[in-house]
Amino acid sequence: MTYLDHAATSPLLPEVIKAMHRAEKSFFANASALHTPGHLAMNQIEHTRSLLAQLIGAEPEEIIFTSGASESNNTVIRTFEGCKIETSPMEHHSIIEAAKVYKGTKMPKLYSYMLANNETGEFLKFPKIDRRPYDDSVLFEIKNDWGKPLVTDRRKAYLHSDLTQVLGKVPLDVHRMGLDYATFSAHKIGGPVGVGALYVRKGVPLKPFMIGGNQENKRRGGTYNTVGIVGFGSALEVVLRDRTWEKYDKDVRKLRDNLAKRILKEIPGSSLNTDISADASLPNILNASFRAAEGESIQLYLDAEGIVVSTGSACAAGDTKPSHVLMAKTGDAEVAHSSIRFSFGLQNTADDVEHVMKVLPRIVDRLQQISTIQY
Ligand code: PMP
Repeated sequence: MTYLDHAATSPLLPEVIKAMHRAEKSFFANASALHTPGHLAMNQIEHTRSLLAQLIGAEPEEIIFTSGASESNNTVIRTFEGCKIETSPMEHHSIIEAAKVYKGTKMPKLYSYMLANNETGEFLKFPKIDRRPYDDSVLFEIKNDWGKPLVTDRRKAYLHSDLTQVLGKVPLDVHRMGLDYATFSAHKIGGPVGVGALYVRKGVPLKPFMIGGNQENKRRGGTYNTVGIVGFGSALEVVLRDRTWEKYDKDVRKLRDNLAKRILKEIPGSSLNTDISADASLPNILNASFRAAEGESIQLYLDAEGIVVSTGSACAAGDTKPSHVLMAKTGDAEVAHSSIRFSFGLQNTADDVEHVMKVLPRIVDRLQQISTIQY
């Protein structure tokens, strides 16, 4: 199988499977319990917390474990219930839909802008918002407008970023970026589904989304998912050990760019929805459109050939509406309906690109031939 759907979910790393099996046997106790097995489980949780803190430049106390990025996003948006909430039109549905429900007119205002989009991989531009003077010399190492650290005047506004697709792919420093909140998910880095985290800068407001438990310092109720959090920790260990962001930048980018160039050259009517120039996008995502060929049909034909891709966000699968991200970017429903997202992981090789290019031109050609749309 050629698996090119890592942006939806990355396969569990072998290290993660091992760590989770061990945790199932050894760390089964309720991590909030005061007995020894409870303490042992809690130690594991704290280990993962400190690994994530290290990777994103936060303090461990600034991290809360959740059931995933959707919950993290919902938690932040709900904290600002009744307040002004501004998001980019490219956000994940867990931001856009939650903002529709909770948004109001009161201050302070919440800005929620993802750093890189999950469908195109492109870095977005933060809007000009109430900035406080910041130290210009600090990183964020991507040299584009998004890379400038942002600090809002916290009397007026707070800043959240959904960094789900960015973790492990790009160096991060949430403090230097001036973020008040940031969202993460384990299953995009080879950890398990159903585990995520929320970075909450010290001193900023947080309204618990899950109420009724004292866990996470009363910030998120519910028995700790110790085994899942151990799996998350194991994936984070691999990210830190291998400095995966460097591998993505070097190896994965090469595969992605090669696929992009070959698609444009070898498939008539193809166009890219991802800007693959340096610093414009994450190195592992390529979104392309194939004029007069429907994305879902391409996906199914590729699937039959053992190639796994998606037409956009898995969370919107089954939706007949064109992708809101591609509509916001291109305004062209035809482009949006004929799009495919190829998303790479560290396990992919040049053979995978060969496999795609062996079958994709034929599939697109067949669909274009039976289409009523001229291209
Ligand atoms: N935000 C972004 C940018 C995502 O890509 C995803 C996963 N598609 C989510 C949020 C939701 O993540 P989870 O499955 O952990 O809820």
